[in-house]
Amino acid sequence: MERTLWNPVMEAISPTDLKKLEQQKLVDQIQYVFSYSTMYQEKYRQTGIAAKEITCVQDLAKLPFTTKTDLRESQIRMPPYGDYLAATADLVNRVHRTSGATGQFIYTALTHNDIKITNDCGARAFWAAGLRPHHRVVHCLNYCLWMGGYTDHSNLELTGASVFPFGVGNSRQLVRVIRDAGINVISSTPSYPAYLEDVVRDELGIEPKDLGLRLGLFGGESGLENPSYRGRIADTWGMQPQNANYGVSDVLCNFASVCGETYQLHFLAQGALLAQLIDPATGEDIPIEEGVKGEMVLTHLEKEAQPLVRYRTSDILEILGTGPCRCGRTGFRFRVVGRSDDMLNVKGINVFPNGISQVIEKMVPDLNGEFQIVLDHPSPYISLNITAEYGAGINPDQKDAIARKLEQKIKTVLFFTAKVELVAPQTIQRTEMGKAVRVLRRY
Ligand SMILES: [Zn+2]
Repeated sequence: MERTLWNPVMEAISPTDLKKLEQQKLVDQIQYVFSYSTMYQEKYRQTGIAAKEITCVQDLAKLPFTTKTDLRESQIRMPPYGDYLAATADLVNRVHRTSGATGQFIYTALTHNDIKITNDCGARAFWAAGLRPHHRVVHCLNYCLWMGGYTDHSNLELTGASVFPFGVGNSRQLVRVIRDAGINVISSTPSYPAYLEDVVRDELGIEPKDLGLRLGLFGGESGLENPSYRGRIADTWGMQPQNANYGVSDVLCNFASVCGETYQLHFLAQGALLAQLIDPATGEDIPIEEGVKGEMVLTHLEKEAQPLVRYRTSDILEILGTGPCRCGRTGFRFRVVGRSDDMLNVKGINVFPNGISQVIEKMVPDLNGEFQIVLDHPSPYISLNITAEYGAGINPDQKDAIARKLEQKIKTVLFFTAKVELVAPQTIQRTEMGKAVRVLRRY
């Protein structure tokens, strides 16, 4: 019989067993961090806390958070891996660099054992999304230093599927390879298929549906939580668009995916990561229960090279379920509401670019889905200026009417006032992943 879970021991672990396992691993990991990580030794010396005071998950609240700034400063103090490197540099086996969208890089080092754990969690996610050994999958993320390239490739490979390392660019060659090699799965960002549609028609003279792709393993961008966005990919390509690749590059490459039963992300890093939620404003712990929202804080449970304790991810999650899923997995289910650093306060209402994106997606094809929030001054805001691109088939004469319609929808659905300006497709500045830059600060 085919296995339904990649790692049933971990993915279907009971809450009692998980608690026991986390406790045990946490005590060992904290002891390791206190013994070998100079950054944490210094951080904790200032608080006066000793390793032996951390005996359970609740005790972690006694320790200060770790932030991206801590990692950056640590790598400036001790290049390239930082003084949070707890293993000897000789044991480092693979190194990635975070993507440079913000202009500040972090080197992420992995030992042989760290790679094994990373691969296992990644395989759990891709397997949950439906990838199987009989599949042929083309991996179209950037291989240049980024974890999403080579490490995701090795995660895909572990499932037994045949993996074609394509990378980014050269899309005309890509569609030919997909057709010629009988590839049926694509791993990419969710916005990539929309770009490929025209290439398929142009280069091969066929409809995207006839190319043969049946499963999409997507990650790296938001959008898929919106059923109309998924419906558009499914209708155009005849493939199942799966949200299969959620990770935090400084912590763990991929540890969450949807399953065949529900379109909710499942936490799949049991035994490797301890996930907690906090109130992003006060730093108070929030218990993981259905319906709560909070910023995810992660602690490694078995990490050798660069172990992190209470790392603030900036990702705001909403917990959708905590009991076992119909698929048998017991990890909590969640959706990513937004980034705490993207959160804007408009007359007391918390606004996330993701929320605006969902309203805009519902207005395709009048709009093409791309937009930007333009900020002229720091918070607080009484309204937001939003620039959005109209759809390819729209006559510019219609744009004022469409802009007013969007303003009204934002008011009804998100309860804040927006001033919308529509511009031609491809006008808004794009990131290196090809998405519009969502927030532009002009101050
Ligand atoms: Zn499930």
